[in-house]
Amino acid sequence: MKLFCVGHSFRYELENLIRVFLPGEKVVVCRLFRLVRGARGGVLRPRRGGRITASSCLTVLTAAAQRPVIRAVISGRNTAATPTYTLSSAAEAELAIAKLVYVLLRETTGYTPPWGLLTGVRPSKLMLKLRREMGSIAAYRDFTNRLWVTPAKAALAAAVAAAEEPLIEMTRANTFSLYVGIPFCPTRCSYCSFVSHSIGTPEAKKLIAPYLEKLEEEICRTAEIADRLGLQLASVYIGGGTPTTLSAEQLERLLKQITACFGAGAENEFTVEAGRPDTITREKLDALRGKRISINPQTMHDSVLEAIGRKHTAVLAVECYHMAREMGFTQINMDLIAGLPTDTAEGFADSVRQVAALRPENVTVHTLALKRSSVLKATADPFRGAQEIAAMLQSAEETLSAAGYRPYYMYRQSASLGNFENIGRTLPGHICRYNIDMMEETHTILACGAGAVTKLVGQTHAEDEPSGPPLLRVFNYKYPYEYISRFGELMERKKQITDFYLTR
Ligand code: SF4
Repeated sequence: MKLFCVGHSFRYELENLIRVFLPGEKVVVCRLFRLVRGARGGVLRPRRGGRITASSCLTVLTAAAQRPVIRAVISGRNTAATPTYTLSSAAEAELAIAKLVYVLLRETTGYTPPWGLLTGVRPSKLMLKLRREMGSIAAYRDFTNRLWVTPAKAALAAAVAAAEEPLIEMTRANTFSLYVGIPFCPTRCSYCSFVSHSIGTPEAKKLIAPYLEKLEEEICRTAEIADRLGLQLASVYIGGGTPTTLSAEQLERLLKQITACFGAGAENEFTVEAGRPDTITREKLDALRGKRISINPQTMHDSVLEAIGRKHTAVLAVECYHMAREMGFTQINMDLIAGLPTDTAEGFADSVRQVAALRPENVTVHTLALKRSSVLKATADPFRGAQEIAAMLQSAEETLSAAGYRPYYMYRQSASLGNFENIGRTLPGHICRYNIDMMEETHTILACGAGAVTKLVGQTHAEDEPSGPPLLRVFNYKYPYEYISRFGELMERKKQITDFYLTR
């Protein structure tokens, strides 16, 4: 679809909105006119390619008698309406244009997105902000009345915010979390869009040792910076990829290195994503003793596992879980994904029941996201029924609520089916603090490893920072070979951490 934005610059919001309704559609932002410089100054000329074609969304913001007026039309779709709307102030324009386009898309597709006009990835962050500003009841109403979020999703965001609030209040300006990335997996799952290296070939395997060498160095350099700035480590998260792709010895060494560099801080919350059951062994679990771990079956049905290219069975996931329990692990998370190819609403409900029956402390239910870089994207049906995904999530919520699991963190991915959410649930007393800090951007995340992103969060100054605390991202190189070969440049970027803290 061609998107024309005339007289305004809200293209980002509108692009996202169109993708919610038309997930498989490529959105091309076009301009109708171009500015041509002439002897008498600039002249607007029609642009080549700026022709409105059979599939276009034209949005126009103009002023009539000093009042902003918006107009939107979707051509080539089943609509005859061309609504126009007069605003009382220009400040309303972005939301008003989004509402106009939303209504047109709802009419043309027949789909009503449960999250209404909210296209961002952090609904609970917005809910938290609104609760602080206007109180919980008004915040809920703002979600439903102004942003057109369904009552069920507004209540979900409110429940997550309520769970997070007491922990967020305990956050101090000098705390941070450490993220360590292991970008290797045994094979690549068909839905995966992460920068993760399959170690199926000897060449790929050879990368692991030099990668770990550099990673250890980065961890220590990061600890030195944190120490100089007086920052205190609140939690550690080792993710990926699949960290348990490493051998037991490599895992043990990595953990020792983190403890050696960060000292007592590393004794606080410490999570390792064991992830795929086909990488978990008794020896590796032994190396991870005392940590929080995640064992992720994604589905409890072997036919679905096969469809996504996973080389393990559901039984193996259960065996790994029991092995971890026998070895004394007391904090285990299990991930499931709604919307996997060949799965059904009944099949997914059964997976949730089986996982709940195991009683892990946390269960995280994701919605499948079809990102460009995944293998599945090329073959999957992006229009897979939103009703079906809704039914899967609804049954998961009912089963897990009845089993005592409460929602405590949430986020959305840009290309998730039906624009639905990912929800982390917990049994009482087992919240993973890192997940909250990461998703709500409550404090700094210092990140090490290929593809890792350091997120520096400043202090809030309510008067001069109305949109929240200052935030700066520092990106590491994505791929392991790049990370190894350009390590020096990457260390240079670490100076930004010190600069941020000394100048904020
Ligand atoms: S285990 Fe996770 S990171 Fe690895 S390929 Fe599968 S989805 Fe991607």
